[in-house]
Amino acid sequence: MSPTIIDNFINNEFVKPTEGAYFDTFNPAHGVPHAQIPDSTKPDVDLAYKAASAAFPSWSKTSKAERSRILYKIADLIDERQDEFVRAESKDQGKPISLAKTVDIPRAAHNFRFFAGRISHSVEEAGELEGVGFSYTQRMPIGVAGLISPWNLPLYLLTWKIAPCIACGNTAICKPSEFTSLTAYLLCSVLKEAGLPAGVVNMVFGTGMKAGQALVEHPRIPLISFTGGTVTGAKIIANSAPHFKKLSLELGGKNANIVFADCDFEKALTTSLRSSFANQGEICLCGSRIFVERPIYEKFLRGLVDGAKKLKVGDPSAPDTDLGALVSKEHWEKVRSYIDLGVKEGGKVECGGEKPASLQGEFQNGYFLEPTIISGLTPSCRVMREEIFGPVVTIYAFDTEEEVVQIANDSEYGLSCSIWTENGRRARRVAGDIQAGTVWVNTWMARDLRMPFGGMKKSGLGREGGDHSLDFYTELKTICLAD
Ligand code: NAD
Repeated sequence: MSPTIIDNFINNEFVKPTEGAYFDTFNPAHGVPHAQIPDSTKPDVDLAYKAASAAFPSWSKTSKAERSRILYKIADLIDERQDEFVRAESKDQGKPISLAKTVDIPRAAHNFRFFAGRISHSVEEAGELEGVGFSYTQRMPIGVAGLISPWNLPLYLLTWKIAPCIACGNTAICKPSEFTSLTAYLLCSVLKEAGLPAGVVNMVFGTGMKAGQALVEHPRIPLISFTGGTVTGAKIIANSAPHFKKLSLELGGKNANIVFADCDFEKALTTSLRSSFANQGEICLCGSRIFVERPIYEKFLRGLVDGAKKLKVGDPSAPDTDLGALVSKEHWEKVRSYIDLGVKEGGKVECGGEKPASLQGEFQNGYFLEPTIISGLTPSCRVMREEIFGPVVTIYAFDTEEEVVQIANDSEYGLSCSIWTENGRRARRVAGDIQAGTVWVNTWMARDLRMPFGGMKKSGLGREGGDHSLDFYTELKTICLAD
């Protein structure tokens, strides 16, 4: 099959990149190119900026009811075309089709519905200033936003930015990951069909170094919402600093999964399997550092290893596949190198570690890796400290609550944490002491979009979700009226 050719989407039209260059992106399950995307550069970002800034005056004055109506329509159209989105996401990213169908694409539609409702129902502050008059707050849309997203949950995370951004009356230039641009490309025609005016959302495809950086350095783009790696996040802070941009940064993680001996064992075990290996471990919220209280350590380790060995790795489009392919060859090599490092650091590979021998036919060149569990490492080892972002977890026995809280917090990251215990007091105590933006007790990856989401330390800056997204995508103004 000839590769899909993707074009930029500017002013509601598909346009070729100004310099005419494209590059290949790969189907990770086959290891062959399957799409070509524009290698966009600064002139493309300038064109998108022209469209987005021209659309801003009218869109920012469009009534909330009308904006909301269009957002609901976008959600409905994603639902109508769900199969097409699901197949594209799975093929482009390597994720199991079941995950794209139950998580990625439904959540993309939900993002639009959630913010369509949220803007219609928000109330601002007002108060009487005795003897003077009264004050009230008003939210102003800010202007043209730069929205930069990663490859692991492509449409899910991109729409998590687009929906609140345009719901609040801003216009957007999006830069999806160069590894996974297909569903963003499909979204363009949905936006147009839903009646979104030209220029409100523009898509500029390409690399971070060229298109992404041009967006961050553009002097007239006042806000950047970025999800991606911590090293890239640091570059974005530095490159945007001269322009005093408003930044929201959702970055990497090395999340602790803490299992106390008084937990619901079966629930902790089955959810830990998921939190270790869902999406091939390529979810920023995966619990890659597992800490188990010593009395149940051996039993938990055996259960986890048995469970991991039963997971089916292979064809992402098969309905019963548990782990698909890692996103790229480079990423596969990086993840694989951490397994070697783990052994060098004194660890024992309890299971996995290799490309599955059972792969046949076109899948033999795919970027597959068995779910891997490494024991015997100490918390100072690099494998227990650095983000691997693949199907590789470490497991470690602890003796006391104080010890495990100290080790869990001894990390430069602070994105999320799971705690497994049936003791309510302990759950509240440990949740209160853990340095992470989200703490789950006896669950994992349960997301309430009304709640703030973000990371502490090098896992991010700022919060999005609910009113926190409205705070980010608007300027809050106080107006004082005298009597
Ligand atoms: P990445 O940082 O390499 O790339 C993310 C995006 O930034 C891509 O679109 C890329 O093209 C762009 N980019 C790269 N360099 C840039 C630059 N100099 N200027 C502007 N844009 C640039 O991240 P990735 O490899 O795509 O994603 C994996 C990372 O994302 C992991 O670290 C993971 O933990 C993190 N992540 C975090 C969250 C969260 O919510 N905290 C969610 C998902 C993924």
